[in-house]
This record gives sequence, structure tokens and C-alpha cells, in this order.
Amino acid sequence: MIEAERQGALDAIGTEVAVCTLCRLHETRTKSVPGEGNPATEVVFVGEGPGLNEDRQGRPFVGQAGALLTDLLASIGWTREEVFITNVVKCRPPGNRDPEPDEITACAPFLARQLEALDPALVVTLGRFSMARFNPGARIGQVHGTFQRADPASGAPRALTFAMYHPAAALHQGSLKATLFRDMEAVPVALLQAREQGAAGSAFPGQEPALIEAQVEAATPQVEASTEDVSTNSVEAQPAGLEAETIVQSAVGAQSIELTSQSDPTDQLTLF
Ligand code: URA
Repeated sequence: MIEAERQGALDAIGTEVAVCTLCRLHETRTKSVPGEGNPATEVVFVGEGPGLNEDRQGRPFVGQAGALLTDLLASIGWTREEVFITNVVKCRPPGNRDPEPDEITACAPFLARQLEALDPALVVTLGRFSMARFNPGARIGQVHGTFQRADPASGAPRALTFAMYHPAAALHQGSLKATLFRDMEAVPVALLQAREQGAAGSAFPGQEPALIEAQVEAATPQVEASTEDVSTNSVEAQPAGLEAETIVQSAVGAQSIELTSQSDPTDQLTLF
């Protein structure tokens, strides 16, 4: 799709989302929040669902969590305008509760169609609900800061996904802020890897996934365990274990990345 076609597809989805009544969330919304960003981007950020400010403005990540997301992007030299930002559910769960499984299922085709239109190289998942759309069974405490192949059913079969904690989690648990910034450092590396994989023709030829060697230094397992259930709103049990075919390279440390000789990956990469 050329850029105008992508924009057209995104606009059409936004129009449908605005009047959607597929789940109960439409009853309490002020405005639906389809998402926004650059239709030509290679990178899509997917959060959980709109909060109070987003519901009022009809735009994603415009509250405190959004300010942190903007800072995280700035830390790697990117802006909101260069990426696309959306959510798993497009209407605010009342009281910022977690989205229910049937609400996520009802909204899933909108996210899948957005991804099909954008055809991103990289999807950055923010929080466990977003991660679960792309890598069911993964545990965020284990996989944050790593990239994996997306579940083809997500709508982004060619993309790599990069898991991060939700920015709002750091508002509740300050120690996660450093983790978020550290994980963000690896996003440009993940994009480089995704570009390489995508350039191979069919993005992921063959059955054996390529070994992906890029990762920032992860926090200790003890820290992970204590942050496992931290998300935007409430605590919910995680499905146990990773999918067998999930590609996750264990932490090797940023210094072992040899994609270029530059030490700062953001120096190597601009989106446009
Ligand atoms: N949290 C989300 O998950 N999405 C938003 O748009 C805002 C806050």
C-alpha cells in the first residue's frame, strides 16, 4: 500500500471505531481512541486502552503515561509524529480497569486491520495486555526488553515485536522507570534487526527462526519477579511460561551488539 492508501485505510478504521458498539465499552466512552501517527512509519506502539484524558480527547497516550512515552521516544531521538500509537482496546474501560477478554476480542479486528494497513517492521508492546496479543503465554517480567516474532494472527505477521512494561507501571512503581528507559535503548536495535529480517524476502523464511542477538541488559530475576504483575491498573495472573517457538535471546548486554561500531544505537538510526 502506498502512503495515501494506508492513511485511507486508517481513516476508515477510525470512522468505524467512532461509532462501534461491539462491546460494552461504548456505553461509557466519551470519545473512542483509534490511534494516531505516521502512516508511513515502520514502528507501531501498542498500549492497553484509553484512560481518562484519552477518553476526553480521543487521542492515545495524552496523559501522564503519554508524557512518559514521549520522553522515552525522545531518549532515542524519536518523536510521536514519527511512529504510530494505538491501543488494544479503543474505548476506555470504566475506572481504568483492565480490559475484559471479550472486549479485547471484540476490538481485535481493528488493531489487526491497523497493522495490516501499516505493515510495520516493529511493534512495540506496552504492558502485558498488548504483549499478550502478539506473544500469548509470554511473561512480561521475563521478556521485557527483548524482541520476538509476532503471532501471525496479530495482523503483523512480518513484524518483530518488542516487549516493554507499560509507562503507567512506572508511575505506580518508580523503579520501573529506569527499566523502561533501558529497554527503550534497544528499540532501534530491534528495528535494525526487523529491517534485516524483512529484507530477506518473506520476512521469516523457513521454520527455524533466526537467532536474534540484541538485547539490553535485563534486570535481575528477583526484580523481575517482584514486578511481574505491575501494569497500568490492576494485578492479574499471567499465563505461565513462554511459547516453545518464542524467540527470545537472553540478555547479552548492549555492549555485545555488533551491528555497527557505534556505541549508541540511536546514532545509527533515524526513522525518516
Ligand atoms: N494507557 C494506555 O494503555 N493507552 C493510552 O492511550 C493511555 C494510557
